[in-house]
Amino acid sequence: GGSGSASTIRQVKLERESELRIEVGNDAPLRLRLLNGTAEIFGTELPPEIWLNFPPRLKFAVFTWYGATIEMDGTTETDYTADETPMVSYVNVHAVLDGRRSRAKASSQDDSESSQGPRVIVVGPTDSGKSTLSRMLLSWAAKQGWKPTYVDLDIGQGSITVPGCIAATPIEMPIDPVEGIPLEMPLVYFYGHTTPSNNVELYKVLVKELAGMIERQFTGNAESRASGMVINTMGWIEGVGYDLLLHAIRTFKANVVLVLGQEKLCSMLKDVLKSEPKVDVVKLQRSGGVVSRNAKVRQKARSYRIREYFYGLSNDLSPHSNIANFSDLFVYRVGGGPQAPRSALPIGAEPAADPTRVVPVNINRDLLHLVLAVSFAKEPDEIISSNVAGFIYVTDIDIQRKKITYLAPAAGELPSKYLIMGSLTWLET
Ligand code: ADP
Repeated sequence: GGSGSASTIRQVKLERESELRIEVGNDAPLRLRLLNGTAEIFGTELPPEIWLNFPPRLKFAVFTWYGATIEMDGTTETDYTADETPMVSYVNVHAVLDGRRSRAKASSQDDSESSQGPRVIVVGPTDSGKSTLSRMLLSWAAKQGWKPTYVDLDIGQGSITVPGCIAATPIEMPIDPVEGIPLEMPLVYFYGHTTPSNNVELYKVLVKELAGMIERQFTGNAESRASGMVINTMGWIEGVGYDLLLHAIRTFKANVVLVLGQEKLCSMLKDVLKSEPKVDVVKLQRSGGVVSRNAKVRQKARSYRIREYFYGLSNDLSPHSNIANFSDLFVYRVGGGPQAPRSALPIGAEPAADPTRVVPVNINRDLLHLVLAVSFAKEPDEIISSNVAGFIYVTDIDIQRKKITYLAPAAGELPSKYLIMGSLTWLET
């Protein structure tokens, strides 16, 4: 700095194979630029000299392979340099995957087996750096010209769309360090809850739907097929969580399982998957830079995610408040569950245990502050097998006038009158 007394500009020199770990403060953004050398943020190279703006609370690292000087302007919650990172092992995995993609591309396209690029699944406990590793592998692949498919099965802290969903999207360019995963036309299935225990069966059914859809897309697209996929998972690895991991590995026919920092999980997976000889289970060290988040921070992150869907990362979107008649919209929820007391059923009917039953819901004040998904279904019985167009947020229910007021990304009619409710709520702040 030097020029003004309030200047907070400072420079950090990074030695080769080290990183600058930053937590942006809670209130103010941070500006940062690469002064010289080369550096990347989670696999995406920084442009030279251009200032980048990082929003409050973002946690990230600027890594350099050969050395760099970084300039920062603003205050941070923390920032420090670290020269011990697992980056070499991560980039070695990338190199192996790259080789497999090239072999898949070179092989005959009639051979569905050999023309299939790597299907990588990243597993490990919460806060082991799964999303971050997925992101690096995707960005490095995209930099090489591949078009890998990113699949996010994390309904708690997903990075493609709002919480409570599983989703997939092709990655055509290294992921922007500020904006994250591009949101154009992701393939999204709405589960409606932020933990799978609400309806384990439904979660599995949706994973199967998503896998089937990607499989069909790969059939018609040799480039995507050779590029393969990177699948991010939830941090739930015990009990049912473990079963769901195995289910995901098998449903997506994953052939590379990357286990982050968990000996036990790694050996368990190696053991069960050894009878499936085409699956490589690889243990990787977790980065010391991964920031742990407690339940409260996670809840907050979910809330910001929903806000971002409607308002954009930096308030750059303007959602529209719409009013509809109760009779214009049809709301459904999935599963019998405890929410369906006998008294709510027609006389003589038994509460069904079918967790994937689609049940119509009366519009009443219970819907207030819920995030509902807008289904692409054309009939109610297609709701489970259909992906969703987007989301609305219920801001008012007028029982007298039978009107529902909701926030939507755009004005005008919804793409469908079929809405799905779960337990996903939001309090606009
Ligand atoms: P998981 O997906 O396993 O829950 P994440 O990859 O989301 O974990 O990492 C948790 C948090 O730590 C994220 O905010 C991420 O940006 C941050 N993080 C990951 N690696 C680093 C690093 N090397 N330096 C600084 N922050 C990091």
